[in-house]
Amino acid sequence: MTGHVLKYLGESKLELGAAEERKGNWRTGRDQEGILWLALDKADSSTNTISGDVLRELERHVSAAEEDLPHAVVIRSAKPGGFAAGADITGFAKMSDEGAGELLTQGHAVLDRLEKLSCPTICVVHGAALGAGFELALACDIRIAVPGASFAFPEVQLGLHPGLGGTFRLPALIDSTEAMTMMLSGKTAHTKRAKTLGIVDEIVEERHVAAAVRAFAKTGIERAEPGLKTRALGLEQARTLLARQMRNRTEERAPADHYPAPHALIELWEEHGTDRRTMQRGEIRSFANLLKTPSSKNLRRVFFLRQKLKDTARGDDDIAHVHVIGAGTMGAEIAAMTAIRGKRVSLSDLDTTALGRAIKQAAKLCEDKQLTNTKTRDALDRLMPDPNGYGISRADLVIEAAPERMEVKEKIYAELKAQMKEGAILASNTSSLSIDDLSAHAPDKTRFAGLHFFNPVAKIPLVEVVVGTDTDTQTADRLAAFCGAIGKLPAQVGDYPGFVVNRILTPYLMEAMVLMDEGVPKEVIDSAALRFGMPMGPVTLADQVGLDIGLHVAESLRDRLDKPMAEITDMLQARVEQGDLGRKTGRGFYDWSDGSPHPDSEEHGPADLTDRLILPMLNAAVEVLGQGVAKDADQIDAAMIFATGWAPFRGGPLQYARTRGTRDVSDRLRALAKAHGPRFEPDEGWQGFN
Ligand code: NAD
Repeated sequence: MTGHVLKYLGESKLELGAAEERKGNWRTGRDQEGILWLALDKADSSTNTISGDVLRELERHVSAAEEDLPHAVVIRSAKPGGFAAGADITGFAKMSDEGAGELLTQGHAVLDRLEKLSCPTICVVHGAALGAGFELALACDIRIAVPGASFAFPEVQLGLHPGLGGTFRLPALIDSTEAMTMMLSGKTAHTKRAKTLGIVDEIVEERHVAAAVRAFAKTGIERAEPGLKTRALGLEQARTLLARQMRNRTEERAPADHYPAPHALIELWEEHGTDRRTMQRGEIRSFANLLKTPSSKNLRRVFFLRQKLKDTARGDDDIAHVHVIGAGTMGAEIAAMTAIRGKRVSLSDLDTTALGRAIKQAAKLCEDKQLTNTKTRDALDRLMPDPNGYGISRADLVIEAAPERMEVKEKIYAELKAQMKEGAILASNTSSLSIDDLSAHAPDKTRFAGLHFFNPVAKIPLVEVVVGTDTDTQTADRLAAFCGAIGKLPAQVGDYPGFVVNRILTPYLMEAMVLMDEGVPKEVIDSAALRFGMPMGPVTLADQVGLDIGLHVAESLRDRLDKPMAEITDMLQARVEQGDLGRKTGRGFYDWSDGSPHPDSEEHGPADLTDRLILPMLNAAVEVLGQGVAKDADQIDAAMIFATGWAPFRGGPLQYARTRGTRDVSDRLRALAKAHGPRFEPDEGWQGFN
């Protein structure tokens, strides 16, 4: 095949030129210099993934190259968005059922043959090369990166490790400790870092890619002999020592019982180290085993739950200007986040010092997010302190984050009536007042809803979009799209005491208080929850949320729900009265003056301790489901995981109930009710739940 072949990425697409052929997922062509271009262009998708058919087709192109050796082979992506997003996760379950080992072996064979071609193989990466995409790049001799390219192995987040050769190709290419850190953490190496690490051989602007390819096609690449450290790690004792350190560090973050994948990777590396042949077999075996673990199944489920929430956040929110009322804990951060994400924001408060603080906080947030100076300046330019509320009349969305008192909000809404523009939405960040009660005072009931952010706003991905009886669909959808636009995951839920998340979480916090009242040490309670897999024990969490806020939410649930709840303990009341409100005052149940507490107790406490903490959440989740507050069980699990970090490897509270057996859970609740009181009585929703 001859003819003119262009080799650059145009404004939006890769032009291979007249000699291009398109078959399946690849666009290919040989140029006049005999270079074979293979451009991955996954059919019917805007993103490349490395699926079985992509690899089978690649095998055919490699065979053709073996028969008629080109001057060089170049692999790149024809998608403007990036190189490849990794393996096709939707196919994992099927792959596991059909014998993953065999399929992986076939995939490995293709990349091995690509690697063995006796001409230079060059991978050009723009955008992200993730997981199997990164592994495809590693099977080439040379990697050229276009500025903005990035490399990562996010498999650990799915309860897996690299499975297409990454576990031995990356440690062979770069410092193997750095390679292990990348695989164990899932962290991204951006272009410059990737070059420093040795993943990338050259960084060139897109317009120079063709010249760089031509140069490498002529010279190939000579790699330096492995350094002293790498050679030392070829020795078993050195690896054993390092593996022990890695294991200890990993155990703290991801205990082996809950997250087996990183531990399996360390074991592989320790056992096989630099013996590529056995490492390859080990990787395939281990990956196939991990696919079958409940941890990976649940973590893959969490990935899809995130996608599902994201899908509800698509579309145009038609919101350019947002006005936030109240620049306190919540309002200040909501305003800052919104401005960072490109919206114009005005922020009002009765207290002008709060406005000053909010702007400083926004600057700090930009710094924490490592925004460039220009991006920081633009974000701060978009955020306007507005003590007189001039922005209200221009806003497409007004978010009210004023103190949690009905009369305060009522008064604010009354003033908004004359100020808000036609078609604008009003949303309240309330956590304990009823949206329907509030809507009676809103300028327009149909364009009123809850927009419940969690504290700290910048860190917690979930936002509950609380749809009241009169909220119209368009408003609910625009608010969900707004969440998407500012990088949040929306869960559209109904108006119910505590909505979804606080309704489910509060019994966990309250039961911890009761247990403390009974004399169980707080460290023992927190450690039990941590052992179960919660990201934070309930006592630490209560301190973090603020004991005043926790108390307020608990009182509101007790008053509004027709259900027995745990008693609000004197100990909690006393702390709040003393002003020991938790992290924000430096002292709550724990002393926070020296940073976060790290409860770590070997003591197991009462035999039913963990069930007393966890099962009330499952019970409340079934109640919320039965009351139609959430769309379905998946939405509840997603909300709990993305708002509270609820043990992701268990897949969320309702998935955990299914795994444990719903019958077992309700029997156990009944037994707990007998022993400790009617607050444990199983909800009637258990009967129909499976
Ligand atoms: P906050 O007390 O920290 O801030 C409230 C701000 O509103 C203060 O700066 C105050 O000066 C200002 N304010 C009072 N009256 C006002 C008025 N008429 N007009 C304009 N500003 C006024 O409160 P917060 O913790 O940020 O809570 C705000 C809302 O968010 C509440 O509805 C609360 O339930 C909800 N919420 C709080 C949390 C949390 O953890 N703090 C979490 C989720 C939701």
